[in-house]
Amino acid sequence: MAGTTAEFALTFSILKTCPVTKARTSILTLPHAAVNTPVFMPVGTQGTLKGLLPEQLEELNCNMMLSNTYHLGMRPGQEIIEKAGGLHKFMNWKNGLLTDSGGFQMVSLVKLSKVTEDGVQFVSPYDEKEIMLTPEKSIDIQNSIGADIIMQLDDVVSSTISGPRVEEAMHRTYRWLDRCIKQHKKIKSQNLFPIVQGGLDPELRKQCVDELLKRKVAGYAIGGLSGGEAKEDFWEMVHLSTDLLPKDKPRYLMGVGFCVDLVVCTALGCDMFDCVYPTRTARFGTALIPGGELNLKLQKFAKDFRPIDENCKCPTCVRYSRSHIYHIIRKETAACHMITTHNVAHQMNLMKSIRESILEDRFPKFIEDFMLQKFPNKDYPSWAVDALKSVNIHLPS
Ligand SMILES: [Zn+2]
Repeated sequence: MAGTTAEFALTFSILKTCPVTKARTSILTLPHAAVNTPVFMPVGTQGTLKGLLPEQLEELNCNMMLSNTYHLGMRPGQEIIEKAGGLHKFMNWKNGLLTDSGGFQMVSLVKLSKVTEDGVQFVSPYDEKEIMLTPEKSIDIQNSIGADIIMQLDDVVSSTISGPRVEEAMHRTYRWLDRCIKQHKKIKSQNLFPIVQGGLDPELRKQCVDELLKRKVAGYAIGGLSGGEAKEDFWEMVHLSTDLLPKDKPRYLMGVGFCVDLVVCTALGCDMFDCVYPTRTARFGTALIPGGELNLKLQKFAKDFRPIDENCKCPTCVRYSRSHIYHIIRKETAACHMITTHNVAHQMNLMKSIRESILEDRFPKFIEDFMLQKFPNKDYPSWAVDALKSVNIHLPS
């Protein structure tokens, strides 16, 4: 069976590959969950999602989420999570869990971070102490957290910069990967993913994949994208990376969660995605609907008694109207919970529709219908048109 190897704590069984695009649907069996891919993983910063309880996630058929190592390592801290027996037990989450390395948060949130060969040095925002996050420390914390998939510490460079710093970061990323592989103590219960880096340079991306292929790993992440680079560069790097990565292992595209991006990047051959977007945008009062978004803070919803999405079966859409949410949104946190619930349900439903269409050999038609619903005047973004063309999908004009 493809990708089934006893040396890793996962099996990856491809159920169907799209004959037109590079999309596939599979069952990714992890220690805590059998996850159908392509999968979208909501992000729970401190373990739990902002605005949603773990049991509510389960009710929305979400069985894989992401937690941030940086935040958990700071609070409650490694010692308490270790004492609790890992994050699954601490938050009573029985499903799949992925943790990032903590590096990205450090570089993006902490102003005073400095990268050296040893690791990332920063000043704790909690007590002003100097802390060094090394590859070993990142793996130690992630071993204590106990997620099904853990990430190597990588040298993160903004996707909008170029030059020798990108190459330096790429080389350091494999050196750090080797230190992570050596430090990883729980190979029977946790899978360590390396990260494809190389900025927006196709040659560097190729070199990086070649290096990663020399190591024994359970799956791969595509990193260093979705950070403000041009969309043309973004999709080309994704396309190139999935061309080079082995077909029989899961591919996780980091930080991607807009609906159009999920559909296009599935067509480009990615299996796993995460993003704070659906939950963050909910906190600003924005609900996701097929074809777009609703800003429920707008006066026009005051007398709109329809649910957010008439075809959505989520607990919010079954019980509450747009009008009700509009009237409480500025006063009650309940409105944030309601929209968050719906937005996560929306992403779960989108991924389910994608998976079903691949399984039933009608993914190309699904893409056409999806894009037409989103862009009824056929004013598709040119990057999406080009990206889809690269996998034999020609949107009708
Ligand atoms: Zn809903």
